Amino acid sequence: MGQVTALECVRCGRSYREDEVLYTCPSCGPSGILDVVYDYEALEANGFGPERLAANPDRTHWRYLDLLPIAPGAALPPVPVGGTPLFQLPDLAERLGVVEMWIKDEGRNPTGSFKDRASSVAAVKARQLGFQTVCCASTGNAASSLAGFSAQLGLTAFIFVPEFAPEEKIAQLLIFGATVFVVKGSYLDAYELCSEAATTLGWYNRSAAINPYAIEGKKTGGLELGEQMAGRMPDWVSVSVGDGCTIAGIWKGLKELRRFGVIDRLPRMLGTQAKGAAPLVQAWRSGEEQWASVEANTVADSISVGQPRNGLKALRAVRESGGVLVEVSDDQILAAEADLAAHGVFGEPAGVTGLAGIQQARWSGLVGPDERVVHVMTGSGLKDAASARRAADREPTVIEPSLGAVQAALEAAR
Ligand SMILES: [Zn+2]
Repeated sequence: MGQVTALECVRCGRSYREDEVLYTCPSCGPSGILDVVYDYEALEANGFGPERLAANPDRTHWRYLDLLPIAPGAALPPVPVGGTPLFQLPDLAERLGVVEMWIKDEGRNPTGSFKDRASSVAAVKARQLGFQTVCCASTGNAASSLAGFSAQLGLTAFIFVPEFAPEEKIAQLLIFGATVFVVKGSYLDAYELCSEAATTLGWYNRSAAINPYAIEGKKTGGLELGEQMAGRMPDWVSVSVGDGCTIAGIWKGLKELRRFGVIDRLPRMLGTQAKGAAPLVQAWRSGEEQWASVEANTVADSISVGQPRNGLKALRAVRESGGVLVEVSDDQILAAEADLAAHGVFGEPAGVTGLAGIQQARWSGLVGPDERVVHVMTGSGLKDAASARRAADREPTVIEPSLGAVQAALEAAR
């Protein structure tokens, strides 16, 4: 398990031992995001590979412990994470104009989002590092997820959310027993306050933006998707992009599977940002590895990130895969939410943003009609009821409790 050899800075390339550094590169500062490096040869020599994976009956994401930064014998949270369904929606494929459209429904995770993969690993890691208190700044999902796993592992959780965090996510935080600070300001303000509190008060900071282990948890999304699609890898894997951690994590997982011969080819990555929070799309267009921060404003709260911290990993993942980054409007996002629901799947705005991106990429010819696409739907629609009501764009009919009232209402609607 966990053959970590180093933490390597994505900016300057310096390597650190795991016990030397907690979050980011001391030489580059906060922009020096660290990447966890494993000894793949040693893993292979110890028998890790397609056969061992195939023989493993564990369907949760802990089946990838060999590729996670977790020491042997660590206590794992009992509620299963991962093992989410991947299924085809032929009618949606037809509507989007592609030959195959697959959805990986991450809303089926225990707290309703993809973030459970990251938070579960970060919570286990916090315990392993000897912390009893964890904290996190989040637009909502990462926080509610960290609160859920803290409840399971007996950790104390302090959460910093911006004012726009949906009520449902705050309710989740409270019911899981976290102390919640609603910060009067943006996500950026919440993020900076959380970092300061962690440093000063000695808490373990799970904020995906700087925590090198959170992205390793997200990696299991790619590992799982790759295993599920082995032998029939799609042309594109689509996901919405805020901070950049999710797309980079999925890409790393897919690359590891190819390294170990579980899959024989890699898909292209299609990242979609909301127009109101799209600094990485600007960087993508200009061919740069840096970006100006923006005042984030989008209905897709989970990707409402004006200053992506993992942007470098995200841009490199997209470029390395021969993929693209596109942006879509809030109207397109809400339309995609209604569209996906019409096919039976209820996603939150950020979860469906990538679907609007696929449509956009089809219109502009970036994705072809004969291509096969998997969209990673990152969060349940129940996370944000107000946006769902906007997307549905219809109202219930209030009636007296009589059949006559039903008939009258039907007549009136005719
Ligand atoms: Zn560095």
